[in-house]
Amino acid sequence: MTVVIALGGNALLRAGQEGTAEEQLANLKIACEQLVDIIRKHKVVLTHGNGPQVGKIVLQNEIAQESTPAMPFDVCGAMSQGQIGYMLQQQLKNEMIKKGVPGEVVTLITRVVVDKNDPSFQSPTKPIGSFYSEEEAREIMRKKKDQVWIEDAGRGWRRVVASPDPKKIVEKEVIKKLLQEDSIVLVASGGGGVPVIKEGDIYKGVEAVLDKDLSAELLAEVAEADLLLILTDVTHAFIHYGKPQQEKLQRVSRQKLEEYWQQGHFAKGSMEPKVRAALRFLQKGGKRAAIASLDQALEALEGKTGTQVVND
Ligand code: ADP
Ligand code: MG
Repeated sequence: MTVVIALGGNALLRAGQEGTAEEQLANLKIACEQLVDIIRKHKVVLTHGNGPQVGKIVLQNEIAQESTPAMPFDVCGAMSQGQIGYMLQQQLKNEMIKKGVPGEVVTLITRVVVDKNDPSFQSPTKPIGSFYSEEEAREIMRKKKDQVWIEDAGRGWRRVVASPDPKKIVEKEVIKKLLQEDSIVLVASGGGGVPVIKEGDIYKGVEAVLDKDLSAELLAEVAEADLLLILTDVTHAFIHYGKPQQEKLQRVSRQKLEEYWQQGHFAKGSMEPKVRAALRFLQKGGKRAAIASLDQALEALEGKTGTQVVND
């Protein structure tokens, strides 16, 4: 079967880690050991988050801007796709060689079209980069009229960007072509893709963040995937999460999950986008979506664990 796998942040960085290359490579090695057993039997398209990585790239650019020009946020996003894609190519291919699994791992820098009239552009909420003093923030806003800065809970001033809904993968046809090639394990749409808007026939990068789970859903449509598998650091989506009566969802229908979603069981910015991605995938004709923990990837693919979302 064809499966789109979305890797959560924990595949790259664990709580308390500093974010060195060695740490990320070691974490990815563990993730890739899991993935190889799936790649042996199935067509796999991988995608991943980039929050901590792109945050660090922005910081490096900010600190160094006296010596070399800082890159805009969309370029930083593309840099993070390259960085993580490279690490995945290394670690996954090495595991494939070790376990005698043929194939090549290829990373595609991926752009995702968003609507320039998306309401989130009117009220950006996603903080990026470091904290600044009010004076510094006001000075930057004077120079860069399109930037929005807010006072963040008494901790200082911080730039915020929009998180628009991902609409369409620009490299869609290339992805379809690459997937016809049996030997290719594709890494695409990293960090949710680089957001672009279309003005006439022209694409233009925008400084916004995309949700990797919602973009993974687009990728699953393009790949005509049999399964959208979202791997994270919890074993299931839960209702009443964190409360004494919390309950894991095992096999759940799209309709039931939608009810739970409307009741507000899934936290915004973490579990909610995964649930929305699963629901959307099924609404668009997908057969199955699963939310599971990274270390149970194969069992979840086989439908044995995790939250399995199905049509009926
Ligand atoms: P990822 O990097 O995999 O996207 P996130 O932190 O964004 O990880 O999302 C996973 C987190 O979602 C879990 O660690 C958990 O704390 C949180 N979460 C919020 N609501 C729920 C819920 N209802 N069921 C399970 N986990 C939830
Ligand atoms: Mg997340």
